[in-house]
Amino acid sequence: MSIMRANDRPTKQAPEANFTGQVLQDPVIVGTPPSRMRATNVSFMPGARTAWHSHPVGQTLYCVTGIGRIQLEGQQVQELHPGDTAVIPPNTRHWHGAAPNRLFIHLAMSEVTEDGAGTEWFEKVNDDDYTAQTAPIG
Ligand code: MN
Repeated sequence: MSIMRANDRPTKQAPEANFTGQVLQDPVIVGTPPSRMRATNVSFMPGARTAWHSHPVGQTLYCVTGIGRIQLEGQQVQELHPGDTAVIPPNTRHWHGAAPNRLFIHLAMSEVTEDGAGTEWFEKVNDDDYTAQTAPIG
């Protein structure tokens, strides 16, 4: 086994090209084949979010703290709370991030394809989409 120590893996700023606002990434695992696992702990400052994107094998988000938002294209924006798990289907355009006034941290888990393909990135989320009314929580 291996233990990767937190001190050896500094927090990174998420790339400006694919995010709006301040987003910090703490790596969890990049699996070596045959594992295709990828996991990252992502911290979004209030108002920060991903660009539109999709994952070839889907993605699971586990909400650790704060209040978040997620939208699958063509659906209403949903609010996310600590302890919630969001399951995003393969090849589905979506975005996720913090609420306008709250920090949000999620553990993002996904798998690459057999040939190693991962996230596909598109345009940034405009303010009208980001601030749209969230769906009532059922
Ligand atoms: Mn995603």
